[in-house]
Amino acid sequence: MNRTCPRLFIIVPCYNEEAVLPTTAPMFLDELSLLQETGRIDGDSRVLFVNDGSRDRTWSIIEELSHQDPRVQGISQSRNRGHQNAVLAGLMESIGRCDVTISIDCDGQDDIHAMEKMLDEYLAGSDVVYGVRSSRDTDTFIKRFTAESFYKFLRSMGAEVIFNHADYRLMSARVIEAFSEYHEVNLFLRGLIPLVGFRSTSVYYERHERLAGESHYPLHKMIALAFDGITSLSTRPIRIITLFGLVMALLSLIGILWIVLRACTGHTVAGWASTACIVCFMGGVQSFFLGVIGEYIGKIYLETKHRPRYILSECTDEMQEGPEKAEDPS
Ligand code: UDP
Ligand code: MG
Repeated sequence: MNRTCPRLFIIVPCYNEEAVLPTTAPMFLDELSLLQETGRIDGDSRVLFVNDGSRDRTWSIIEELSHQDPRVQGISQSRNRGHQNAVLAGLMESIGRCDVTISIDCDGQDDIHAMEKMLDEYLAGSDVVYGVRSSRDTDTFIKRFTAESFYKFLRSMGAEVIFNHADYRLMSARVIEAFSEYHEVNLFLRGLIPLVGFRSTSVYYERHERLAGESHYPLHKMIALAFDGITSLSTRPIRIITLFGLVMALLSLIGILWIVLRACTGHTVAGWASTACIVCFMGGVQSFFLGVIGEYIGKIYLETKHRPRYILSECTDEMQEGPEKAEDPS
């Protein structure tokens, strides 16, 4: 792995971004020049734009840019698949072509200069560097409130996410290769990357306003992403159902004892006690059993993802060479 002067790919997902791309593309290229001049990256580094099935002029702008400057490269998805998928396409297509990647949105909201700190961390030995927003002053109150609640809720539901980190992130080639072993289709990158492991750190930056165009993440998409994040990363909701079922079963047991007591002391009308007992018993037992079945479904769900069971980050020389062939006994 090249830690001295790595070849960098800046991966930029774009969906209907004709308004902002002509402004931000030169900014990415300037940053690439700056990183090269300061000896942080190799001259062969690239900006890779991923057109996510845009319906406007985004792809033709990318093509024009790549004709003007060979450091601009582009790939285009056959249709719109969403931000997470566009970043994934860029990461996967970078395999074998570079030593390190940085993914960043194309709207200029994330501070491009944080890349310098990210690369310094990479050169110092980190394989993943998370870009974390130091404040959300430029966001509207609603955006800030929903976004921060989103991270807190995700964490409480068992998804390991870095607070206030979106998808502005440096990843080394070996992390991307290890990540390519995660074959799941429901993607929530900021929850999945921490699962891959390796040495990681964070750099902090101020988030700006969008330079032009409009956000593609209204509230309903945020809620869908949160739901996707929780259900893709955690089976904790199922555990909550099981616990709820257990509590219901215990409460119904207490209910049954109380009903029997009422019946024995003659405070009931004929037929009430038996009916109420059956209702309590069935309610409690059913919700508990549903939770137990859910636990098994949760296990099946995790198995179907076929996630790698282990990922190595280091090994001693002999282990790197691979196993020696056993002697043929004949
Ligand atoms: N994006 C994408 N596909 C989509 C939606 C968004 O590739 O279906 C890109 C978009 O072009 C931008 C990034 O994802 O580069 C983040 O989107 P946006 O800025 O609209 O989200 P926000 O910053 O408002 O959460
Ligand atoms: Mg944005």
